[in-house]
Amino acid sequence: MGTLSIVATPIGNLEDITLRALRVLKEADVIYAEDTRVVAKLLARYEIEKPVKRLDAVTEGKKADEVVARLEAGERVAFVSDAGTPGVSDPGARLVAAVREQLPGVKIEAIPGPSALTAALSIAGLRDGAFTFLGFLPHKKGRQTELKEAAESEIPVVLYESPHRIEKLLGELATLGLGRVSIARELTKLHEEFVAGSPQELLEHFKTHPDRLRGEFVVIVEP
Ligand code: SAM
Repeated sequence: MGTLSIVATPIGNLEDITLRALRVLKEADVIYAEDTRVVAKLLARYEIEKPVKRLDAVTEGKKADEVVARLEAGERVAFVSDAGTPGVSDPGARLVAAVREQLPGVKIEAIPGPSALTAALSIAGLRDGAFTFLGFLPHKKGRQTELKEAAESEIPVVLYESPHRIEKLLGELATLGLGRVSIARELTKLHEEFVAGSPQELLEHFKTHPDRLRGEFVVIVEP
């Protein structure tokens, strides 16, 4: 039986990769990736030459069977998503579940590393350790319910949001009368920024600096 390694990769800065992750990628027989072009940049930076195959949210079910066959043949298979930790708002979870189900004895190992979630929390300065992670809110059905849950939560709630929806989200949070929200943007990248304030103040901030509406966002809603 082979080994399936679920490998965390950088969320921006290509230096954020562990020695173990690099070794596992170097030793893998094949690397499955959410996007072959994205992982190609990482592999080029560390001079790793390996066969790379695509396994994204759409193909995850079908490709899982391919991975199972490889593991049965004794191969070392690595999986990487586009950024951060696979399975955290990213493909990977269904692959792992399928492999566990079809090959109960096979070794599935975590190669931990960056995640936007933990990176944001590490600089948020929250007083208590507890938090709820909701990832991306649904766009339509269930959105209001989750927003309300976030607003009523007694512990901080962490959300992921894309640049073209961040103003909408802040508007919704303002309507719910929330006091304080933190935003970690472009973590580990050139334009990394951490801002906190009321949703209204943050909306003003982005109105004054429209260029800062670009990039990737982690939003922390405080109780
Ligand atoms: N698996 C990834 C992880 O472990 O964080 C998350 C992937 S999810 C598809 C992408 C979302 O994560 C982005 O929309 C953003 O909310 C957040 N994200 C990823 N990279 C980020 C970064 N460098 N700075 C801030 N947020 C980031």
